[in-house]
Amino acid sequence: MADFPTRTADAPLAGGLTLETGVPGLVAYGSTFESLIDGLRHSIGRLAADDAPTRFGVPPVISRALLERLGYVETFPQLLGVVHTYEGDDRQWRELVPALRRGESWTHRHEVSDVVLLPAACYHLYPHLAETEFAEPAVFDLTGHCYRHERTAEVGRMRSFRMRELVRIDAPASVLDWRDGWIERAAGWLGSLGLPVTIEPASDPFFGSAGRLMSTMQRSEQLKWEVAVEVADGLDQAVVSCNCHKNHFSAEFGFRLGGGEAHTSCVAFGLERIALAILHRHGPDPRSWPAELRPDPGPTREEPIPDANVSRT
Ligand code: AMP
Ligand code: ZN
Repeated sequence: MADFPTRTADAPLAGGLTLETGVPGLVAYGSTFESLIDGLRHSIGRLAADDAPTRFGVPPVISRALLERLGYVETFPQLLGVVHTYEGDDRQWRELVPALRRGESWTHRHEVSDVVLLPAACYHLYPHLAETEFAEPAVFDLTGHCYRHERTAEVGRMRSFRMRELVRIDAPASVLDWRDGWIERAAGWLGSLGLPVTIEPASDPFFGSAGRLMSTMQRSEQLKWEVAVEVADGLDQAVVSCNCHKNHFSAEFGFRLGGGEAHTSCVAFGLERIALAILHRHGPDPRSWPAELRPDPGPTREEPIPDANVSRT
């Protein structure tokens, strides 16, 4: 077995924040960063307690057919990551291996599979609501590892990132009130963490010339609002998006509320972006973070870190 490098508790993996992978927009995270993500998860959970949301776990890939059906493929082809898999046989593979070893193309026998990378957590939810007659409004709480094929990689713009979403099913007027209430709540929460915010109507990056029209409509109907904070000197990024989908999903999947029409809204938190903003504002030492986000010192301090300073062979 190959030698593992000797690591100590203050080596980058243990104490580090963000770790480059060599691929633009793809970042790994050290333990300090992860404990901040944990703090954010707990804090958002407390913030959402009044909604008594139902938790819903989702995988980081999603049915391709579902995203085709929901219009995502048509409107965001530039962002979608498509999973391909090898469909040849053993003999054909042996022919390809020399090309692989020479660093040449080895993918021409790969085919588009039945899954794509998840672009937003909430897409997983709607098919499970199909034909449901809700007696009262409902809120779901999902966290997904999302992928978007971003073309730039400035601070806070990753290709793979974690998105926490709250999704509400409610009557048309009340779902909008809920969404608007969350714009204020999210802004107040970020302010309480020491982050000055800006709140603005926004639009999704719909593709191409047809997309420009959709963006204009989305803005004029104020269907999307973003709460932005500074993540690096002079660079603001949206950290929370508050969206109203009207009947886009309820009409497609036939779910209703109290015998009438249901609409949906979602509030999406970009966990890494919020963490980057906290680090930018308060620094890397957890003792200077807002108490709300500080890691629980807990009993693990006394326990040895498994294998942390052991050189293995
Ligand atoms: P959106 O669906 O684009 O409104 O994204 C929801 C939330 O996810 C945003 O408010 C951001 O906080 C976060 N987010 C979106 N794109 C990225 C990205 N490329 N890197 C990191 N976080 C992102
Ligand atoms: Zn959503």
